[in-house]
Amino acid sequence: MTTEEPFKNIKVLIVDDDIVDREMVKRHLGKSEQPFIITESSSVDEGLILYDSDNFDVVLLDYRMPQRDGIEMILELKTHTRDYGTAIVMMSSAEDEKLATASLEAGAQDFIPKSEITTRRIHNAILHAQTRFKLEKELRESYLRSKDLAEKDSLTGLANRFVFEESLQVAITNNARDEFKLGLLLFDIDDFKCINDIHGHDVGDVVLYQFAQRVKSCLREDELFSRLGGDEFSIMITNLKSSYQLGNIAKRIMTSLEKPLSAGLTQFTVDISVGMAIHPDNSLDSKELIKCGDIAMYRAKTQKGSHACFFYKDMQVEFVRRYEVESILNSAIELNRLHLVYQPIVNPATNELHGFEALLRLTSESGEIISPDEFIPIAEQSDLIVELGQWVLLNAIEQLKKWQSKTNMKLTMAINLSPVQLNSDNLLISLKKHIQDFDISPPDIELEITETALLKVNESTLSRIQGIKKLGCRLALDDFGTGYSSISHLLLLPINTVKLDKSIMPPTPEAKGPVKLLNAMITLIKNLELDIVAEGIEHPFQQELIARNHLTKAQGYLFEKPMSVKNIEKTYFM
Ligand code: C2E
Ligand code: MG
Ligand code: MG
Repeated sequence: MTTEEPFKNIKVLIVDDDIVDREMVKRHLGKSEQPFIITESSSVDEGLILYDSDNFDVVLLDYRMPQRDGIEMILELKTHTRDYGTAIVMMSSAEDEKLATASLEAGAQDFIPKSEITTRRIHNAILHAQTRFKLEKELRESYLRSKDLAEKDSLTGLANRFVFEESLQVAITNNARDEFKLGLLLFDIDDFKCINDIHGHDVGDVVLYQFAQRVKSCLREDELFSRLGGDEFSIMITNLKSSYQLGNIAKRIMTSLEKPLSAGLTQFTVDISVGMAIHPDNSLDSKELIKCGDIAMYRAKTQKGSHACFFYKDMQVEFVRRYEVESILNSAIELNRLHLVYQPIVNPATNELHGFEALLRLTSESGEIISPDEFIPIAEQSDLIVELGQWVLLNAIEQLKKWQSKTNMKLTMAINLSPVQLNSDNLLISLKKHIQDFDISPPDIELEITETALLKVNESTLSRIQGIKKLGCRLALDDFGTGYSSISHLLLLPINTVKLDKSIMPPTPEAKGPVKLLNAMITLIKNLELDIVAEGIEHPFQQELIARNHLTKAQGYLFEKPMSVKNIEKTYFM
């Protein structure tokens, strides 16, 4: 540095209580061909004030001074420093090896006994100290850069998982002595994969960056916000006074995300699922606490839209069960753990058999029959439903063919579809293939979609629904009356049949309101020229009620429960 520009002025601060020594140093510096601009001070305190008032290139520091010595000044300078400080040369009247080492350890770049000071020696010491100081600075900067790389997420600039886990552990250890709570928010963006899949990873990255900025704006500086990976983030709140406070932070973040994020010209509105866990209430251990947050996040995911959930003990039990069901599902097809049962659909006036609804059952290793209400949502969340749905389609259609051939009756088969199955063309391809392979008349197959599933309908799913119709199969709107019961769904979609949910069957003949409602619904649907199946018929008065309304199709425990193939054959075809 200085060798390249030998005659650039060097600003020197001399701190020495001994005026004779200061003069000696100044004399030598004056003799050098290198120009020095010298400022002097006779004490550490004064030196520190002067140091702060200018940008010195080097400090020549006497070790022995009356109130505070040179090493104390170096240590204090570290707390004053702009940038990384200034090169320091320690001078001492003693030729002490230990003192030399102590000075270098404290942060001086060179040590020079006063007895050895000559013009050349002091000039060289200053130049060496400056060079050494420059190298040290570069080293420190490169260390900080690699530390940043190791600790920071490069996309968002947030702390990474490593820092988060370490900090949580430290905070929990510190928290053990406090009566404060420590709160954890773990969250991810719902369906983030879709943004990547549809718009590409570059857009996905911008969305993640904007997302991180938006969330950050809801937080205080001291709240550790980290990106754990992908679209998964965490926030640690120390000094939490109550769980209410944690819930409020989650709410604030969710509200802030109601405004869309923009990536280029496209706007994205994202929902998040937030899991909340609290130390020491939920766990004393950092890893366990993260697990609690994760479990709560899973729970939040089961809700539509942005949602935050606190961890509670029963969740653990639910989570373990969920995990168990998911692992049974994973190998259900290979291990023959799936079977279909069939519930007859009959004419309520004559008890005449019209057809069946295929209903899926899962058997655990121990022989426990798991209800579809439990395993279907799990299969939907893990996309296993696609494979399961294909299995159901094949088996139900094959069974229909067997019964039609065996009985020569014009039987129908209703098959439930998950909205997830409408996300790919596989459904239509398989449906067409099975119709051909088994030589089935397409209207004998009725595919049931629930109303809540229709809320997720977009253009491509709608075109697949229309594809089902084009194949000639019938379409039913299942569970009508439980969700939105929207008339617009009845008009917009190519539906043939509405299945009235069991919950709208009047519980007693005296329930005047529900009876009127049912009658009105039936009239409305009939006026739209749609077919009706009444579900959940359990009592003879319900059978009578729907027969009086001239419904020709009903399903319910009063007629038959869902039955195995063997029992259906025994009951109907022997
Ligand atoms: P869902 O399609 O509405 O099927 C009717 C449900 O009501 C069946 O429950 C049936 O056993 C029950 N049920 C029938 N009659 C009565 C009655 O009189 N009283 C009462 N209380 N219940 C009655 P299940 O078999 O447990 O199925 C529950 C739901 O699981 C089904 O509701 C359907 O949404 C779903 N599901 C079943 N199998 C499949 C499948 O293969 N694929 C898909 N995606 N979903 C399925
Ligand atoms: Mg159904
Ligand atoms: Mg139903």
